[in-house]
Amino acid sequence: MKLYPLFADLSRRAVLVVGGGAVAERKVAALLGAQAQVTVNAPTLTPQLQRWAAAGRIAHRPDAFREAWLERVWLVVAATSDAELNRLIATFAELRRIFVNVVDDAALSSFHVPAVVDRAPLTIAISSGGEAPMLARLLRERLETLLDHSLGALATLAARLRRRIRLRHPQPAARRGFYEALFAGPVAALLRQGRPDEAWRAAEQALAAPSPARAGSVVLVGAGPGDPGLLTLRALRALNEADVILHDRLVSPEVLELARRDAERIEVGKQAGHHHTTQDGIHALLLRHARAGKRVVRLKGGDPFVFGRGGEELEFLRAHDIPYEVVPGITAAVACAAHAGVPLTHRDHAQSVRFVTAHCQSSHDSLDWAALAQERQTLAVYMGVAGLGELQARLIGHGRAPSTPFALVENGSRPEQRVVTGTLANLAERAVVHGVRSPALLILGEVASLATSLAWFGAPPLGAAVRDIRPARAAAPVATDVLAAVHRA
Ligand code: SAH
Repeated sequence: MKLYPLFADLSRRAVLVVGGGAVAERKVAALLGAQAQVTVNAPTLTPQLQRWAAAGRIAHRPDAFREAWLERVWLVVAATSDAELNRLIATFAELRRIFVNVVDDAALSSFHVPAVVDRAPLTIAISSGGEAPMLARLLRERLETLLDHSLGALATLAARLRRRIRLRHPQPAARRGFYEALFAGPVAALLRQGRPDEAWRAAEQALAAPSPARAGSVVLVGAGPGDPGLLTLRALRALNEADVILHDRLVSPEVLELARRDAERIEVGKQAGHHHTTQDGIHALLLRHARAGKRVVRLKGGDPFVFGRGGEELEFLRAHDIPYEVVPGITAAVACAAHAGVPLTHRDHAQSVRFVTAHCQSSHDSLDWAALAQERQTLAVYMGVAGLGELQARLIGHGRAPSTPFALVENGSRPEQRVVTGTLANLAERAVVHGVRSPALLILGEVASLATSLAWFGAPPLGAAVRDIRPARAAAPVATDVLAAVHRA
């Protein structure tokens, strides 16, 4: 069946819905959204339909369906559970040349209700002609994730300026260029940033400008800990629109895979001691590509503002007048905690959490160890594994109990995740025994004792003390494996 797509103006037009159940309610909600005058014919109504009837938003006819009611309506929806009645309604509607939708019956329907992505005044409607409604729904979900909610405001802006744009750019090619710049450039970005007044000013400026040169921009995007499922929708959209992606080494291939196919990818990875682009080199690359009119995505592991030097990059962009946006990401501490089953705070164990970095000697020297050694707080330490011995000695030296539990999470949230547990007294030793390597995050504090009992992701934690696992795992056959692992260790 090949359908003719149609957007109907139903405002103040009469529509009859036969049926008063959940399906009818959904149809009525959409019809009310389009300001139709809805009459619902059914002996009983759902509570929501009753409320609408009581408020006068719909008319209710409880008696049996009568053909004469079709006289004054533009559309009819048959949403009863009585197949015979639905068929009858469809037949009468056909005779009167009124469009009818019979719920879940494509053959009896003369109009279909599409799956809709609503960015009013922009509406995207998807139909499979009744053949594969599930596919249409899936497609709708995908589009929902791809299209920012500010798109509606952008459509409104474009509509209001339409006449002036036509006057300013009478040639279709130039006009098209202007619209492309409008939709992809700073105006759209300002709307996304919740700054409509500035968006309007920027649009006015663009209209006054001699040529619609596309301005470049930078989006600083947090890529999360590696699992693409932990990207935000905003991050996904930015990746979809990018011309150039400057990414760290920590960003996983699975995340990069989601970016626009023809985007240029440049690794500017830094890893302690290995080859890297200097921070100045990164700044220069950002500037060069943005000045060339590119949409640049600066993609960083975790969150760009947590030990990510995102602040320095923004300061640089600001100084050079390059427009930018920031999309937060799930930082390693949050991701590792979740994937190791270690709540960072807990009413019984920790009232605060500190994100600390301890990558090198100078970071060790500048930390307030007395404060870090306090009890009933959680430390989330972003670090190179080599510094663990120093950390252990300093914390114990400043009074943290050697029995304080830890969970060391390597490759958190990734398929190869490993969690090593133990106490502060044997922290460095455990890391060596299990060959823990970067990237790894240390969670230290009373909460870490929960890693054994609350683990849910990947392999069970390694190196747990025997007394810790007995109560939680006594009945589970896996306990012997864990014990064996402990003995091997
Ligand atoms: N901006 C990043 C942190 C960059 S510093 C963020 O918000 O997560 C790099 C450190 O983060 C690594 O040395 C490691 O300690 C930690 N890290 C990043 N990803 C990790 C992961 N998947 N598992 C464990 N630790 C991780």
